[in-house]
Amino acid sequence: MTSKLLAFAKWAASKGRAYEYRTFSIGLTLPEGVQEREDELRAESKIKGFETIKSEMSRIISREISRLTGKRVDKMTPELMVLLNLQDHKITLTSRPVFLYGRYTKPEGLSQRKERCPHCGGRGCEVCKETGFDLKTSVEVVLQRKLGSALESDGVRITWMGSEDAESLVHPPGRPFIAEVKNPKKRGVPKRLFARTGKGEVQISHIRTLLGKPTKLPSFKFRARAYIEPTNKISPRDLRALNLGMNRVTVEFQRPQQRPIYRTVYSVRGKLAGDEVVVDIEMDGGLPVKRFVSGEAVSPSLSEVLKTELKCRKFDIYRVSETSELEFA
Ligand SMILES: [Zn+2]
Repeated sequence: MTSKLLAFAKWAASKGRAYEYRTFSIGLTLPEGVQEREDELRAESKIKGFETIKSEMSRIISREISRLTGKRVDKMTPELMVLLNLQDHKITLTSRPVFLYGRYTKPEGLSQRKERCPHCGGRGCEVCKETGFDLKTSVEVVLQRKLGSALESDGVRITWMGSEDAESLVHPPGRPFIAEVKNPKKRGVPKRLFARTGKGEVQISHIRTLLGKPTKLPSFKFRARAYIEPTNKISPRDLRALNLGMNRVTVEFQRPQQRPIYRTVYSVRGKLAGDEVVVDIEMDGGLPVKRFVSGEAVSPSLSEVLKTELKCRKFDIYRVSETSELEFA
C-alpha cells in the first residue's frame, strides 16, 4: 500500500517539474471501497490512532513529494494544487493564478478591447481560430498573448482602468491594467514586454506581481490631448477665458439608468492649431473625454463654456496616475 502511494508521489513530483512553485497541497480521490475497508487497511498499513485513512495517505504522499522536491506543503494558499485520483490513476495539476499589475502604451488604430471577428461575426471560423474574436487588432489580444506566453498560462483575463478609443495613442508610461494569469507554469514576471502589431508597437511595462486578487481598483487621473473641430471661429481671447475658467471644476456626467457621477477637471489648456483647437486636459478617470468636449450628458463642458458646438475628432492619452492604492482582502 505505502509503496503504491510513494510511487504516486514520485509521479506527481515529476509532473510538477513542468511548474514553477514553492508550495503545494494535495487532494485525493480514493479507489472505491477503500473507505469502507478502513479498519482492514489500517491494520495493513499500520495506521494508528484516529487519523482517517485518507488524511494518513495524504500525509504520506505530501511528505514524499516534499522530500523529493524540497517544496513546502501549504494547505491554505498553495502555488500548486495536486489532485491525485487513485481510482482512475490520474494526476491533475493546477497552479494558483498570478495577479499582476502593468501599464500599456498603444499606437493609433488599435482598439483596447477585443473586437468580433469580421469574417464570421463572432461565431468562430478558421481565420479567428474558432475564438470568434479578431486576433489582430486589440491591446487585449496582445496582453493575453504576451503575458500568456511569458508565464506559460492557458488563459489571461484583463481588468482595465479606464479606456480610450481605437484612434487614441496611449503614451508612456501607459495606462494601468490588472491581469489574472490562470494556471501559469511560470510565476516570475518580466519587467517589460514589447509586441509589434500591424499598427505599431505596444509596450507593456511596470509589470509586478500583486498579493492576490484586488478587491478595489485605485482611482486615477489622467492627461489627455483632444483635437477639436469647432463649428464657429474661436478667438485667442475665448481660449484664455476657457483656460482660466476650467480650473479644478467639478463636472457632472449623467448616465442613463444610473446615478450621475461627479469628477474633477483640474486644468484645461487650449491653443489654436490651424482650423483646429488642441486642448490639454487633466481630469479624473471616469469622465469621457469626447463628451466633456461636446457636452453630451456632461456639464460643464468645453462646448458650454465656449458657447459653440465642438466636436472632438480624436484624443490621445498622456500621463495616467493613480490617486489611491489597490486594495486586497
Ligand atoms: Zn472568425
